[in-house]
Amino acid sequence: MLPFSGISSFARAPIASLEQDWRADAGVLGVPFDIALGFRPGARFAPRAIREASLRYALPTEGFYDLKTDRQRLVNLELRDVGDVDLPSLEPELARKRIEFAARALRSRVRLPVFLGGDHSVSYPILRAFDDVPDLHIVQIDAHLDFTDVRNDTKFSNSSPFRRAAEDLSNLKHITTLGLRGVRSDREAVQAAKSRGHTLVPIWEMDDLEQVISRLPSGKNVYLSFDVDAFDPGFFPATSSPEPDGLSFATAVKLIQATASRNQLVGFDLVEMTPNLDSSGNSALFAARLIMETLLAVFDA
Ligand code: MN
Ligand code: MN
Repeated sequence: MLPFSGISSFARAPIASLEQDWRADAGVLGVPFDIALGFRPGARFAPRAIREASLRYALPTEGFYDLKTDRQRLVNLELRDVGDVDLPSLEPELARKRIEFAARALRSRVRLPVFLGGDHSVSYPILRAFDDVPDLHIVQIDAHLDFTDVRNDTKFSNSSPFRRAAEDLSNLKHITTLGLRGVRSDREAVQAAKSRGHTLVPIWEMDDLEQVISRLPSGKNVYLSFDVDAFDPGFFPATSSPEPDGLSFATAVKLIQATASRNQLVGFDLVEMTPNLDSSGNSALFAARLIMETLLAVFDA
């Protein structure tokens, strides 16, 4: 079917309900929540925009032909789209409960749950659904640390998801943050992260990619959180809080591949994509492609 026809599920995966019992390799859940953004809104529309763009990468049962290896990839991958969390409009605490509940339900059905934000605050309730994963590590690819205690009088904004997770989840052992930059860093947050032993890698230490990869966790259960503002906004402008001089697409894919090959990936989110700032539509396409690259890295390395 042509990519501009039919009803949009992620990569044209069969739609499944979290109210029913089934199992699959991977499942995609939208979290259309953006009232915790500190700047330009719109990420609530990202799950729908990414689904629509993903039809360009609709996955045939015979898989994708790979030019590099001359073989089919992701053959018979069982991918499901479970739709979006049904969120209240103005009850953030109830929203967090529903996000956690849906994330837990998806986790019980698939090997790799994939979450489409939403702003980055959604990673906190999602991570609460991973509170029983032994020795949990997080790899966060982001221009920002998101480890602030309180900003603009709230503890639950997109600046704080990993601070809240670190307080809440006794199984959360370590966070590696890659791509840090900008002039708005929070000194207290940096010190708090460092005192917990987190690995903080600013963009100016990322020229030598092999050296960066050697600092990634190894042999761990890893939750990977990808904030699209890690990308260079020149080619990925559709985000709330862009910072110049970010990652290329190729570098981001290499980091995801290295994280997935060295560890057991237990969950993945892509957050902060803001379709109303995507005048070319390219950002939605690149977001969908990055999720496809993640599936390739996990299921067909
Ligand atoms: Mn973030
Ligand atoms: Mn960010």
